[in-house]
Amino acid sequence: MTDPGRLTVITGPSGVGKGTLVNQLLGRHPAIWLSISATTRAPRQGEQEGVNYFFMDRADFEARVAAGGFLEWAEFAGNLYGTPRQPVEQQLASGRPVLLEIELEGARQVRQSFAQGFQVFIQPPSLAELERRIRGRGTDSDEAIGRRLERARVELAAAAEFDACITNDDLTQALLELERLMQLSS
Ligand code: ADP
Ligand code: 5GP
Repeated sequence: MTDPGRLTVITGPSGVGKGTLVNQLLGRHPAIWLSISATTRAPRQGEQEGVNYFFMDRADFEARVAAGGFLEWAEFAGNLYGTPRQPVEQQLASGRPVLLEIELEGARQVRQSFAQGFQVFIQPPSLAELERRIRGRGTDSDEAIGRRLERARVELAAAAEFDACITNDDLTQALLELERLMQLSS
């Protein structure tokens, strides 16, 4: 069992399979509460407001930053992303395990405010495989893919800052490893 009120952060380069892993984890452990982030990025095909993200324009996002409404926030590949503070605090207070799927700068901010949180880094088997996955997903323009790959090198260099690192080669193995690290029964 995860400790009640435990906060887990999952970070890793875009396209490594974080969303896929998290979806499977939530399917198997419905008690876990996944934070829904706010972003200024345009919705991808099939993404829904309030399900994948809270989509907002830059002015609204910045007003929320000024009001202290985010637990953490960062700019990634030209867009702003942030974790709404209040729901996370509410879920932690109620004792529910909380999961954040966020990029490196945000993970660093959470490390300062929640030193007791557990942080996992997901890495690809190789950069070539990462690029193949991003392209295979078919949701990003060539320019966006370029920015994501450039950022991936920076993120991969920071893997050692995390409490644990998982290589997402075989998805099932990666999921089992994540469950083990989060002390969940598989
Ligand atoms: P992220 O959320 O990290 O940006 P996604 O979950 O969207 O990544 O995954 C990117 C692509 O890689 C998707 O098409 C997904 O199906 C694929 N993928 C995820 N995990 C694996 C894996 N272990 N092996 C091969 N492909 C994978
Ligand atoms: P995407 O545009 O592919 O959905 O997400 C791009 C990156 O932003 C991913 O690395 C994802 O983990 C990160 N991200 C998503 N939500 C947040 C958030 O609330 N805060 C931060 N710092 N990063 C986020």
